[in-house]
This record gives sequence, C-alpha cells and structure tokens, in this order.
Amino acid sequence: MAGKMSKTNVAARRQAREGAKKTCPECHNELEVAMVVEGRGKTTMVRLCCERAASADASSATA
Ligand SMILES: [Zn+2]
Repeated sequence: MAGKMSKTNVAARRQAREGAKKTCPECHNELEVAMVVEGRGKTTMVRLCCERAASADASSATA
C-alpha cells in the first residue's frame, strides 16, 4: 500500500516538473517556439524543438 502511494507521488512530482519545464506535446522535448515573420508581416509559429527532433530523426535514419 505504501509503495503504491509513493509511486503516485513520484508520478505527480514528475508531472509538476515537466509542467514547469513546458514539455512539447508533439515531440516531448523541451518546448521551444519561435515566431517567424513571412511576407506582408504574416507571422508563423514554429516549434524549434520539433524541427530539431525531426532533423535528428532524419540523420539517424540516414545513418
Ligand atoms: Zn516539439
């Protein structure tokens, strides 16, 4: 019973820490967002963390 309790505590603590660090829901890395300005002042949200994860994925697939 006590073991079950501590397990729940650890999960809750980890969740709180991840929330503070803002984990990306897409790539599960540390969230990193940048605003890219396109033509005519149009801005686009780009997830740098996902792009990094994608490029890492591509390089590992090539290797
Ligand atoms: Zn991401």
